[in-house]
Amino acid sequence: MESGESQQDEGGVDVDTGKTYCGSETLGKPTDAANVSDDHSQQRPPDSRPTDQPTPQSQPHKTTLFVQVKETQWPIIYSPDYNIGFLGLEKLHPFDSGKWGKVFNFLKADGMVSDETIVRPQEATTEDLLVVHTKKYLDSLRENIAVAIPEWSVTVASITEVPPVALLPNPIVQRRVLKPLRTQTGGTILAGKLAMERGWAINIGGGFHHCSSERGGGFCAFADITLAIKFLLDLRMVEKVMIVDLDAHQGNGHERDFMDMRETVFILDMFNRSIYPHDGYAKRGISRKVELDFNTEDGPFLRAVERHLKQALEEFRPDLIVYNAGTDILEGDPLGALSITPEGIVQRDQMVFEIAKNRTKPIPILMVTSGGYQKNNARIIADSILNLKKQRLIQCQEAEEYLKNKAKQSPSQESSVDTGAANANPTSRRSWSSIFGFKK
Ligand SMILES: [Zn+2]
Repeated sequence: MESGESQQDEGGVDVDTGKTYCGSETLGKPTDAANVSDDHSQQRPPDSRPTDQPTPQSQPHKTTLFVQVKETQWPIIYSPDYNIGFLGLEKLHPFDSGKWGKVFNFLKADGMVSDETIVRPQEATTEDLLVVHTKKYLDSLRENIAVAIPEWSVTVASITEVPPVALLPNPIVQRRVLKPLRTQTGGTILAGKLAMERGWAINIGGGFHHCSSERGGGFCAFADITLAIKFLLDLRMVEKVMIVDLDAHQGNGHERDFMDMRETVFILDMFNRSIYPHDGYAKRGISRKVELDFNTEDGPFLRAVERHLKQALEEFRPDLIVYNAGTDILEGDPLGALSITPEGIVQRDQMVFEIAKNRTKPIPILMVTSGGYQKNNARIIADSILNLKKQRLIQCQEAEEYLKNKAKQSPSQESSVDTGAANANPTSRRSWSSIFGFKK
């Protein structure tokens, strides 16, 4: 399936063959589904260093994002504030801006979780965001989001998975778009800490992998993955992290942010080579690159995930895997342009968790849900989380017992209203190593 080493970095031309790989030339090509590059030697060009870098912090950042979590709560993070409303405009667009709430409701309907047994995150503050972002970038969002994130305009909405926010006045955009994205970002940062404590954590939102410290794009306003990792490095909870980015698109945001930290952050990125963002410069931040052709199917895709993840973990021993589990690889996705079935997505997630867990020293995983906004993505994400539970790759016995006891005590009083009380009465928690028997 893989066609060997390749260095296809600069904007759509295969430097080995001289062939262009954009457009219809590769469409439907049944073979040569993936190419890989393990090249660690590429250097940043001298004239391309980003300006206006955030000031390095001498002290670990103080934050209110790390809310106390009870042992009867799954390390699954969600808030009703995640969901974006555009005064009904979203109905004009295929983008499912309520995906996150639907995932939670499916998990709840299955009986896996309740409002009390998941974790509700805080919104990331400006101070939190400044750990990674430049003030200039955050100011630009405040002034005009469509300028800061050029793809957020009506004219290109159809090609960049973006709702028609440019039609709305900026104060409404701030409230209806940026607040949900800041809350999801707070969720990813909290999930990083929880993953280290419990062995895994899932943020039902997040995965804004096109955003770097100083530039947004592709519906990504905040660099939640970079932020989560920077917080853990500051707290000295991790020394080495692997990002496994299996969204259909290249994760150019975190790649730009960690380009100079390749000893600390190893990036495995599998993506459709022929779609947005075509960021040749950011590819220099990838330690293991797997480029996919249009319409890659389950078999080659899953074999590539298994092979490259296992090989990457032979090369680099992380303290944490940050898994960007975008579902825009799903067949029929107009932006991802791959052909992975719903079952293939469930298998992919299972494989990543199994490989991380079945090591002599299991590796904690932080999973975020990233791209994929067709109407059926929420169901598939929920099915995948339920499958992880069924396979006992994720567990929280205390949460399950809590729900069973509650149902016995008052079977008719189970509330379906999210009270936000999940974090109201914090107690101490057991460490994940004692629950799962992992050795840290
Ligand atoms: Zn994507």
